[in-house]
Amino acid sequence: MKPAIVVVGSLNMDIVINVDHMPKEGQTLIGTGLTEIPGGKGANQAVAIGKLQAPVSMIGKVGADPYGTSLLNSLTASNVNTEHIVTSAEKSGVAVVTVDQSGSNHIIVIPGANFDITEQDIELQRQAIEQCEIVVLQLEVPMEVVKYTLQLAKQLGKTTILNPAPAKPLDDELLSYVDILIPNEHELADICGIELVDDQSLQAATQALLAKGVQSLIVTLGEKGCCYADHQTFKMFPAHKVKALDTTAAGDSFIGGFAASYVSNPNMDEAIRQAQIVAAITVTRAGAQSSLPTLAEVQQFAR
Ligand code: ADP
Repeated sequence: MKPAIVVVGSLNMDIVINVDHMPKEGQTLIGTGLTEIPGGKGANQAVAIGKLQAPVSMIGKVGADPYGTSLLNSLTASNVNTEHIVTSAEKSGVAVVTVDQSGSNHIIVIPGANFDITEQDIELQRQAIEQCEIVVLQLEVPMEVVKYTLQLAKQLGKTTILNPAPAKPLDDELLSYVDILIPNEHELADICGIELVDDQSLQAATQALLAKGVQSLIVTLGEKGCCYADHQTFKMFPAHKVKALDTTAAGDSFIGGFAASYVSNPNMDEAIRQAQIVAAITVTRAGAQSSLPTLAEVQQFAR
């Protein structure tokens, strides 16, 4: 059996509303379009992994509503095992995204079922964690659940990856359960309270987190690529030069690409190389889950 990954996190239906310009306070506008797109950082990362043909299951919650059904279907269509996704009494998570003609957006997230996950739910799905090699988490489910899952995964000898997005304060105990922390530069700055102005401040921020017990750190730097840091190393990896069309899900695709490689070959450089290819392809296409590449597309790009 190929080694597997478990993603514990959020599923949201993204309701994208297009407008010519953002409404002023009290104004009623006629929009120009409405699309419903499956999203949520957890689901996006699971789909990224599934499309790369690494075995992946997701642990999460959706509502007993049509959005819940669509969210599960989109995972199944991308080879993600949904057996460990439970139905909640709350409604499925929704993100209402208003985008104007210039591409600026306003986003309101109603977490719904995503915030209904408890430590007990994780315990009930413990078998999935016992049987996997890598557990991947983000911060769109309750913080106590993130901490509990990280601790459980460490007790079971698993590799833990935390994408601390959206940025929130992280306590030292939680950080001590993280093997590989993958923030973007804004999340890193928020977590450390250090303004990132140059390579020196970037390196200082990574050192501050390593000192708290994180084993390895990868900071994604948008079109600049990413850097890797552990107690011995600090290394830059430039991004692939591509024509970016839509950077939605760049970070999620990076995490998925990284985990899908690392699970079968725990070589940091190789996994970062695959992550950057997956992310480079993703930013050349519109959308979130729809922009994530297949294994064949990644292999083609790497040639
Ligand atoms: P997030 O989506 O979390 O803000 P980043 O913007 O840091 O994440 O992007 C994640 C990764 O996506 C980067 O490390 C890089 O590999 C890739 N990437 C992002 N933007 C570009 C770009 N314009 N060209 C090439 N690769 C990109």
